[in-house]
Amino acid sequence: MSERLYYNDSYLRDFRARVLDRSEDRRILYLDRTAFYPTSGGQPHDVGLIAGAAVVDVVDEEERIAHRTASPVDAAEVDCCVDWARRFDHMQQHSGQHLLSAVFIEQFGIETCSFHLGEEISTLDLEVPAIGMEKVIAAERRANQAVWENRPILVTYEDALSAGDLRKPTGRAGTLRVVSIEGLDRIACGGTHVRLTGEIGPILIRRLEKIRNTMRVEFLCGGRAVKRARADYDLLTRTAQAFSTSPDDVPQMASVQLEAVREGERLRRKLDAELARYQGRELYDATPPDAHGVRRAVRRAARGSMEELRALAQSFTAQPKAVLIGVVEDPSAVLFAVSADSGLDAGKTLQPLLIQAGGRGGGNERMAQGSVPGVDKLRAIVDALNR
Ligand SMILES: [Zn+2]
Repeated sequence: MSERLYYNDSYLRDFRARVLDRSEDRRILYLDRTAFYPTSGGQPHDVGLIAGAAVVDVVDEEERIAHRTASPVDAAEVDCCVDWARRFDHMQQHSGQHLLSAVFIEQFGIETCSFHLGEEISTLDLEVPAIGMEKVIAAERRANQAVWENRPILVTYEDALSAGDLRKPTGRAGTLRVVSIEGLDRIACGGTHVRLTGEIGPILIRRLEKIRNTMRVEFLCGGRAVKRARADYDLLTRTAQAFSTSPDDVPQMASVQLEAVREGERLRRKLDAELARYQGRELYDATPPDAHGVRRAVRRAARGSMEELRALAQSFTAQPKAVLIGVVEDPSAVLFAVSADSGLDAGKTLQPLLIQAGGRGGGNERMAQGSVPGVDKLRAIVDALNR
C-alpha cells in the first residue's frame, strides 16, 4: 500500500520515503508514501527525482503506485522531489477545468462528459451536439469572474451514500474524495488542485470542435493562457508589420489585399488567354501548309503545366486544316490538338500511343493529352504523331 501524500497536500514537493519493492532492473520503485501523481482522471503523471534518478512515468496500480526511473535506484530510503513547474501547471489546468465545467452547468445546464489535459492544450467535451460561440464566451467571462472572486477550493472525504449535490454521480462506494469550489461545484476527483480559484489565473477558451455528438472546447489556464496570448500577439504584430499597418487594422487590410490579388489573378488569366490567341494565330501564319494543305506545328516547353499550351493549341486549331503537338519535358507530357476539318480524331490517335508507351491520358476528337514515363517515350510519341 502506498500512502498518497498528494491527496491531502497538493503543494508538497519534497519528501522522504522507504522503498517497499522494486523491479529486477531497479528502475521501477514502490514507495511507502508518495507525492508523485500517477496518470489518472485526465491529469498526466508528475516527473521529478527519486534519489537523484529522473522519474519518467508514474502508474496507478490501485493498491500501490509504480515509479519508473531513467536509471536504477538501489537505496532503501530515498529523497524525492516533484518537478513543481509541471505539477503547478497541471493544478491550474485541472482546477480550471472543474471551474469551467461548473460554469457551463450553472449558466446553460450543459454537462461535461470528458476532460483531457494535454502537453500544450487541454480540452473538455460538452454533452451538446452544438453550441454558439456567444455562450462559450459568456462561460469564459463567468469563469474568469469566479477566479477574481478567489473562492476556496476544498478537499473533503465523504461517504458515497451521503455525499449529495455532486456535479456528476459516481459509481464508487465507500469514502469519496470530494473537490469543491465554494458555492459553485462539488465533484468526486482524485486530482491535484490549487487552494483558491485565484491561483488558476486567467482562463482562455480557444477552438471549438464538433466530435460526434459533443462539442470539444480547447482551453488554457494560468501560465499557459498568458504564454498563448503572448504568442498570439507576436503573430498578430508580425502580420501587421507585413501589411505595414496596426494590429487592429489587420482583418480589414487582409481582405482588401486579398480582393486585389483576386482581381489581379482574374486580369492575368484574361491576358494569358488573349496572348495565347495571338500566339496561336501568329504560329498558324508562320507555319507553311504541307502537300495536303495541313499546317502542322510542334510547340515545346522544358517544364510547367499544359495550361498555356492548351490555350495556344485551341487558338491554332480554330483555324482551318491545323494540327498542333504540344510537348512538356518535365514532367513528361504531350498534347495533341486538331482542327475540325483535319480529318483526324485527336483522342483516338493519341490514346493507343499513350498506352503503348506505358503512359495515360485521353481527350475528345479535337484535343487530347497525357503523361508518359520519361523523355524517350515522349520523343517516340511525338515522332509517331508527326508522321
Ligand atoms: Zn477532476
